[in-house]
Amino acid sequence: MLKRLLSFILVSFFALACRESHVEEVKNFRIFVETDTPALKYSVQILVADYNRHVGFTALSVVDKKEDSTSTIHFQKDLADDGRKLGLGQWTALQKQTVAGQFNQTETMTIEYGMELIFDLDNFLEKAAYIQDPESEGYQHLFHLFCHEVGHGMQMDHTHTEGSVMFPSISIHGSDAVDFDDYFRSVRAFLDDPTSMVSAQQGHGTGHRHRQL
Ligand SMILES: [Zn+2]
Repeated sequence: MLKRLLSFILVSFFALACRESHVEEVKNFRIFVETDTPALKYSVQILVADYNRHVGFTALSVVDKKEDSTSTIHFQKDLADDGRKLGLGQWTALQKQTVAGQFNQTETMTIEYGMELIFDLDNFLEKAAYIQDPESEGYQHLFHLFCHEVGHGMQMDHTHTEGSVMFPSISIHGSDAVDFDDYFRSVRAFLDDPTSMVSAQQGHGTGHRHRQL
């Protein structure tokens, strides 16, 4: 009787042990910049540094090898002529399953989030000429554009509030007042806890001399 009970306990324990699994989410965006143009690579590095400064910690990093990356940026000529877009951003998720241990097996499901961003080549190059001057309209346009597409890469949707970073159009001169504080609060919330995302505010706005994002 004791022996049967013991084996029952052992079997139950084994079955229970086998089922032990957990999910890990990785939001460490390691970006590979797909270009041979040094000015573009350099500009992305400056924008990434400014982005991290606003977040308050390293949210994005630039890597030299594609195999070390979770995310990509590339530049496309005439993207702006195709639907008048200056940039496109989307998020990606890669699932990996690892099993550790022989008897007490632990199953880990890792979800590694990444992003794929595309920028219009001519627009980016033109504004990159001002990359050393954060006060310039060119820089402000580029930073706004970069933040918007990275926002999509962090699963943010468009908002209808003019002045929001996630508003679907941008001034070609980058001179609009943009609410970066609200945006970076959402970024920090996403990186710490995706369920605490600030919901999009409703409103409406019109734009002229604006390009779609
Ligand atoms: Zn957009």
